Amino acid sequence: MDNCIFCKIAAKQIPSKTIFEDDDLIVFHDIRPAAPVHFLIVPKQHIPTLADCGEAEHALLGKMMTLAPKLAQEQGCGYVASGEGPGKGGFKAMFHIGPDGGQEVYHLHLHVIGGPHPWRGER
Ligand code: AMP
Ligand code: ZN
Repeated sequence: MDNCIFCKIAAKQIPSKTIFEDDDLIVFHDIRPAAPVHFLIVPKQHIPTLADCGEAEHALLGKMMTLAPKLAQEQGCGYVASGEGPGKGGFKAMFHIGPDGGQEVYHLHLHVIGGPHPWRGER
């Protein structure tokens, strides 16, 4: 897709701090992090929003979602479960969809946001 910043990152036309890549996905640090750890899980295929996804994208979305905790762990904000109680650590995994969802880049991406509190805008 011409003029799509995430297509350009996937094609290596513009640089990114990439932490993971395979045939389907590229994952890089957000340029304006909202927390100590903030990376984006991005399909290489151009899909504008989550609202454009259907059955054909089930496997891709599943791959994005299950990659999130694995990479969060590697980046130091993983969730450690305990047998009882809430466990430790953790992160947010978020899609922004459309103007009212705060979406700025119209190429599907999953935000993974974590690290020690307080985060920007939080107490
Ligand atoms: P949104 O569309 O609101 O879900 O978020 C787009 C995100 O992409 C924002 O958090 C931006 O900081 C981030 N972003 C925009 N351009 C770049 C870039 N060149 N490299 C890394 N992150 C970017
Ligand atoms: Zn794109």
